[in-house]
Amino acid sequence: MTLNVRIALNRPLRRLFDYLSPAGISLAPGQRVRVPFGRQSAIGLVVETDTPTPDTFTLKTVEQPLEDWPALPPETLTLLKWAARYYHHPLGECLFMALPPALRRGRAAERKSEPLWQASGHLDDIPKRARRQRELWQWLSECEAPQATAMVLAQGFSRSQLNSLSKGGQIKESDTRTTRAGNETAAVADLPVLTGHQQEALNTIPTPDAGFTTTLLYGITGSGKTEVYLHYLHQHLADDSQALVLVPEINLTPQTVARFRRYFGHRIVVWHSALNDSERLETWLRVRHGEPVILVGTRSATLLPFTRLATLVVDEEHDSSYKQGEGFRYSARDVAVYRGHLNQCPVILGSATPSLESVHNALSDKYHLVKLEQRAGKARPPEIRLLDVRSRPLEGGLSRPALAEIQRCLDNGQQALVFVNRRGYAPVMMCFDCGYMMECPRCDTRLTYHRRDRAMRCHHCDYQTAATEHCPKCHSDAFKPIGQGTERTEDVLSEQFPDTPVVRVDRDSTQRKGSIDNILKQVNSGAPCILVGTQMLAKGHDFANVTLVIVVNADGGLFSVDFRAPEQLIQTLIQVSGRAGRGELAGRVVVQTCHSDHPLLNALCQGQYLPIARQMLAEREASQLPPFQAMAIVRTEATTMAASLAFLDQAKALASEANLELWGPLPAVIARRADRHRAQLVLLSPGRKVLAQTLSQLTLALDQQRLPAGLRWQIDVDPLETG
Ligand code: ADP
Ligand code: ZN
Ligand code: ZN
Repeated sequence: MTLNVRIALNRPLRRLFDYLSPAGISLAPGQRVRVPFGRQSAIGLVVETDTPTPDTFTLKTVEQPLEDWPALPPETLTLLKWAARYYHHPLGECLFMALPPALRRGRAAERKSEPLWQASGHLDDIPKRARRQRELWQWLSECEAPQATAMVLAQGFSRSQLNSLSKGGQIKESDTRTTRAGNETAAVADLPVLTGHQQEALNTIPTPDAGFTTTLLYGITGSGKTEVYLHYLHQHLADDSQALVLVPEINLTPQTVARFRRYFGHRIVVWHSALNDSERLETWLRVRHGEPVILVGTRSATLLPFTRLATLVVDEEHDSSYKQGEGFRYSARDVAVYRGHLNQCPVILGSATPSLESVHNALSDKYHLVKLEQRAGKARPPEIRLLDVRSRPLEGGLSRPALAEIQRCLDNGQQALVFVNRRGYAPVMMCFDCGYMMECPRCDTRLTYHRRDRAMRCHHCDYQTAATEHCPKCHSDAFKPIGQGTERTEDVLSEQFPDTPVVRVDRDSTQRKGSIDNILKQVNSGAPCILVGTQMLAKGHDFANVTLVIVVNADGGLFSVDFRAPEQLIQTLIQVSGRAGRGELAGRVVVQTCHSDHPLLNALCQGQYLPIARQMLAEREASQLPPFQAMAIVRTEATTMAASLAFLDQAKALASEANLELWGPLPAVIARRADRHRAQLVLLSPGRKVLAQTLSQLTLALDQQRLPAGLRWQIDVDPLETG
């Protein structure tokens, strides 16, 4: 007897494919197989087995399974099937997200046995003239753990130095398992003593005995949430269990991983986009084979095939990087909560500025709310002050009082941080004679002036062109930058404070590998300096000597069309303010604004997030916006706006039978991007079920349509951006 199987391919198709099992082999769900597809072969994942034989055509046979075990274990398969349904995304693409790139392409699921090196023997055995070899030996002997060849090379040593030492027996390959175990016991001894408040918070988080629980750990900036996670894992995670710790961005805050490593040694593994294919495969295999790892990772780590997952932590749960912005638009935070439910284990969401969704869940008793409202150690919350700059002269966006504050801060031997929400020199170049503004030829946006590279760049596509000093239209030399970018503020600060280093932190200044590390090193040295930067500076950094934060302009988010803009503005302001006064010295924050009477900004000065969150939630409720209704957006892009809108008109007609609120179709805020015309239809419903059913019917119907050439559409469930 032969058995049929149903297989998912890594393609944007809302369907599965039927095949015959190879003779004598019975396949299991989740198994990776090679199958004939068209004239080629493809990698597939078994989704169902023992499926009925279709009577209209003959099935092709699976060429071979790639492993005799399922790459996706049952729990992961269930999770991803749920996610595909919830986000209305093709199952195949969702399932393949749980595989590392190497396995998607069909590579063998084997570890490349990469040696880890450790010092042995004596330094004296290495000849004095072999200076670099001696340095390498010394470095290895000081490392806490054996090091991979790649790490050795990254330190600037060469392969031949490694080989010479290895031949001479002064270094050897380690047996990783024994050292791992050794490291763990040595490491855990150092856990810091919790403060009374931290201990209290820790005690109120439900333990794993309670099964599935979601806790919102609302801990103000600098309250030491990380310490609470560490202790929770130390106390409650069994030696043979796995944990997942999601973080927004690993490269920006290497200190967080370092802290986890210090206490859990080699049990900590990381997962983020900067890993190469082999590193990803290695980590994936450890997770899949049930090694008791604590995985610290970014968004896609939520989808990995854990088999013994017993605790999930989502740090900075409000962070927008948890939501994928393209394709499979899942929210890693929300998937993590569902995963906790599947595994009947605790989920801890931590933030000083939790999302309104999570606050709402906490206030309605779906989540446990645990508060940590004191900073750890001697640190006190910063004092926040609004500075109305309506009629004040500004230089590089900075007012005189703000510059005076910086001066005072530096005089005291401390560091200042200046937050500007745009990178580049200026967001607009304008001719003061003819009014011309330079726009992107491919998008409905203005070009940003990047003075360092003498370029005009579009921040929405990859267009760029050389900067000019004269108006391209009337050739006037009154062609001037308007508004502030980080480069411009950096220049003004360097002029004003010529004796103080000014360090710029934005996507441009941190592109080169290692540059962020160097910046962090400089700041952590504690010597007076001024940091200028974007959002990047708001994320989780712990600078002990920063005592002053200046927000150049807070007004961007106050009057945006996006209903989430006020929430995001307040979160950013509190997070960036939270960088001030984390050490023993008190912190001050000056927020420059033209709307010092705005209620949100005034609430911000009270320094407490939860009351503001309640206020914003009341506004959401009044206008029946999420989380009081479920929201989804059908987005299109096409070669003309007419085509985009016509498609959405059809979608609207299909959806209008259900009891839903529909907005649009309307062009997106940036209606043309990279020459694609974008539009959207918003669906709102008081109940998730109605929304989900409507979207299922909609996708079914729309999939049958013949699309105009070049039109693409996508569904975005629980969208973060409504522009
Ligand atoms: P959060 O993530 O809540 O903003 P962190 O976890 O980064 O705060 O902690 C803030 C600072 O306080 C860090 O420098 C941390 O080392 C320190 N800290 C936290 N808890 C303790 C403690 N119990 N004892 C000593 N220092 C602590
Ligand atoms: Zn002009
Ligand atoms: Zn563009």
